[in-house]
Amino acid sequence: MSAPDLLNITKPPEWMTDGLCAEVDPELFYPEQGGSTREAKAVCTGCEVRAECLAYALAHDERFGVWSGVSEHGRRQPAARRPATDVDEWIREHADTGIEQ
Ligand code: SF4
Repeated sequence: MSAPDLLNITKPPEWMTDGLCAEVDPELFYPEQGGSTREAKAVCTGCEVRAECLAYALAHDERFGVWSGVSEHGRRQPAARRPATDVDEWIREHADTGIEQ
């Protein structure tokens, strides 16, 4: 693997620069255990790259944090692991399944 290939592996996808989370404190998306995810989920609600974010989180098996308004707990639910044929519908069904504190 060449050096440019290695650089491509670590380069974030372009859609990430359009995420609203880039404009707020990243700690909101990775709260301490027992901390609230409410503010992060509210940010995601208005994000224009929510579908891309969800697809990325599921494809990369992201274990931590809020992605596309869905907490770690929500992404681990069996129903959430099924392939999404309609990402918007998936978000509507699973966005509120995370543990809300
Ligand atoms: S959906 Fe949420 S976590 Fe994903 S890019 Fe947008 S603001 Fe960030």
